[in-house]
Amino acid sequence: MTDQGVIEAETMPAVPLCYALVPSPEHDLESHPENAARFDLVEPAMEELPLGVAERLDAGEAPDDAILRVHLSSYLHALEAACLQGPAYVDMAPTYVTQASLGSARRAAGGTLAVVDHVLGGKSRAGFALVRPPGHHATATRAMGFCLLNNIAIAARHAQDSGLQRVMIVDFDVHHGNGTQDIFESDGDVLYVSTHQYGIYPGTGAMSDVGLGAGEGMTVNIPLHPHTGDEAFKRIVHAVILPLGIRFEPDLILMSTGFDAHWRDPLGQLQLTCSGYHMLTRTVAHLASEKCGGRIIAVLEGGYDPEAVRGCVTAVALALAGLPAPPDPLGGGGYLEPDVDPLIERLRQLHGL
Ligand SMILES: [Zn+2]
Repeated sequence: MTDQGVIEAETMPAVPLCYALVPSPEHDLESHPENAARFDLVEPAMEELPLGVAERLDAGEAPDDAILRVHLSSYLHALEAACLQGPAYVDMAPTYVTQASLGSARRAAGGTLAVVDHVLGGKSRAGFALVRPPGHHATATRAMGFCLLNNIAIAARHAQDSGLQRVMIVDFDVHHGNGTQDIFESDGDVLYVSTHQYGIYPGTGAMSDVGLGAGEGMTVNIPLHPHTGDEAFKRIVHAVILPLGIRFEPDLILMSTGFDAHWRDPLGQLQLTCSGYHMLTRTVAHLASEKCGGRIIAVLEGGYDPEAVRGCVTAVALALAGLPAPPDPLGGGGYLEPDVDPLIERLRQLHGL
């Protein structure tokens, strides 16, 4: 073995995947789709992974300075006041809070930061933040779409504060991550790429939104027709998302991973499968291996069918750990997929690919 080989062997993380699990049972509204029960099968899924694949991290609350890199202090105070009066609705989605919700949101962001620190410290190649409440609809100034603090935006800013410059965020939730787009749309160092079903909540995410000022070209929206599934996603990832990532040369890749693009999800009409999520994650992880030392972190967003969440958590965790896809426990949706060639052509023209 060469000297170089010895160094690589010594610095190779012993456990490929680290994760934080923040199920937030105290942030709950039984009749609401974003309730605590949607996480019931997440912990069993992680515990059933093969031995030595994943290491669970302890997670505390995100500190104020990390949160305030993304959110205004006036918003944090308003959220605190709303929670004190909870249970209450704070947004039309509707987004709810309980008296404990600010603590839940701080721990969701804190869990995400713990994963970032572990991966940036070289202790794991990949990370998975299994946290709720989710984050990608929350803007700097308001709660939206079941989201209170924007976990992935806080993670991106924390990574930059830790010395990385360029962060690529790939958002596979069925909904457009309006909050994440809003936070980074003028930032030339954060590439935000979102696939989402067009025409549903929150109504944003038009292909023509490409970023502003220094961030022009750094927002890439990929709006999809209902029934778009594994085959179309595979074509889009290879024809659009990988070339974007190769051109951008990120120092870190973050994935807003919503399992509500699964065919069983009650809130969306896309038809990804668990195997499809594995394929997407493997492909983006390969990009991370090529461009940023394998550093990739998935952050859970939506996903409202517990069985689909369970199957997708397993699939994404194995993909992040570099392992093959397990048999898909739920199969496919069965609808014919729409033709995405015209969409791909327009995206390639719009973004000069
Ligand atoms: Zn969603």
